[in-house]
Amino acid sequence: MIPLSVPNIDGNEWQYVKDCLDTGWISSAGAYVNKFEEAIQNYTGVKYAIACMNGTAGLQVSLNLVGVTSDDIVVAPNLTFVATLNAIAYSGAEIALIDICEDSWQMDIDLLQNWLANNTITKIVNSKPITTEITSGKKIGAIMPVYVLGGVIDVDKLVEISSTYGIPLIEDSTEALGSFKNGKHAGTFGLTGVLSFNGNKIISTGGGGMILTNDKDIANRAKHITTTAKTDPLDYFHDQVGYNYRLVNVLAAIGVAQMENFESILKRKKEIYSLYRKELKGVGDIKFQENDPNSDPNCWLFTFRTKKMRTLLKHLNSNEIQCRPFWTPMNKLPMYRDLMYITKKDISNKIFKECISIPSSSNLTVDDQYKVISEIKKFYK
Ligand SMILES: *Cc1c(COP(=O)(O)O)cnc(C)c1O
Repeated sequence: MIPLSVPNIDGNEWQYVKDCLDTGWISSAGAYVNKFEEAIQNYTGVKYAIACMNGTAGLQVSLNLVGVTSDDIVVAPNLTFVATLNAIAYSGAEIALIDICEDSWQMDIDLLQNWLANNTITKIVNSKPITTEITSGKKIGAIMPVYVLGGVIDVDKLVEISSTYGIPLIEDSTEALGSFKNGKHAGTFGLTGVLSFNGNKIISTGGGGMILTNDKDIANRAKHITTTAKTDPLDYFHDQVGYNYRLVNVLAAIGVAQMENFESILKRKKEIYSLYRKELKGVGDIKFQENDPNSDPNCWLFTFRTKKMRTLLKHLNSNEIQCRPFWTPMNKLPMYRDLMYITKKDISNKIFKECISIPSSSNLTVDDQYKVISEIKKFYK
């Protein structure tokens, strides 16, 4: 079986994990957590990176840090991995889903802008804008865009919306380590951004996440709240309801080793992407995800559109090539069915029905990639 997207464990992972085991530093203290945070800071150029248990936890904590409560509305795209919405649901906030763009498969920012212009009012409170929805009177507590497949969104426009309306921007950049817009890394534009190191992501620690922020106060609070909100190194004094969401040292050790190899992992991802684009262009009715010309996406998971998605999926999976359909749109899941959904033509559902992801692991061999390509070409003949 040629796998869809698996970790590439090819460096010092074993040695660093062994170091943790040999020294007994396996749990919540130890040097690798700091080293991993530093590696992410250096790579992304963000001022502060705070390691946590996984991406979902990072998103949940981010919402808490920007002050989202159950009285608020949080905006998110309708086509994303379920964790984006789950993180918001934990806060108790209402969720407003925004449809996506047909070409980029990313949240439709024009649709968001229209909705804000027609359905909310903005007041200046203590010299800061605060935006509330007209009918419910609820505050718009955050906008949480997603870098779908590591593709780059029009984040500059979102930053502008965020400041005009006074709505904190939290970037779900969990799929976007290695993605840049105009030379600036994904997840470093908003008040916070979040990375994930789950097994299928571009690098993996087994499970893990990182909160990115350029705001010192948010960074301090992020560390505090993810480590039980303990105020004293000795005494068990905690000043708020914290979480035990820390990343353990053993997993951070894997992360440090993964980051040492990141440039070569990223390079392979881009080679795989280019070869697929070259070979699959014009094959059947295949259409690719469009990317902003000012962006440099990480090419994490190769996905394309075809009207024959279901039959192709069956064909490839039965030929030892692991493929996956896209995420079911959030408004089709039982727990999120009744949410507000801002759309004109329900593009999410159309893209969901047509998209297929194909093997894109950074350790995919060229031979195996050609096997995938020729099987797809055979299917369309
Ligand atoms: C992976 C992912 C997450 C969650 O990350 P975990 O580390 O698995 O909790 C959130 N949102 C999106 C879009 C993801 O792809």
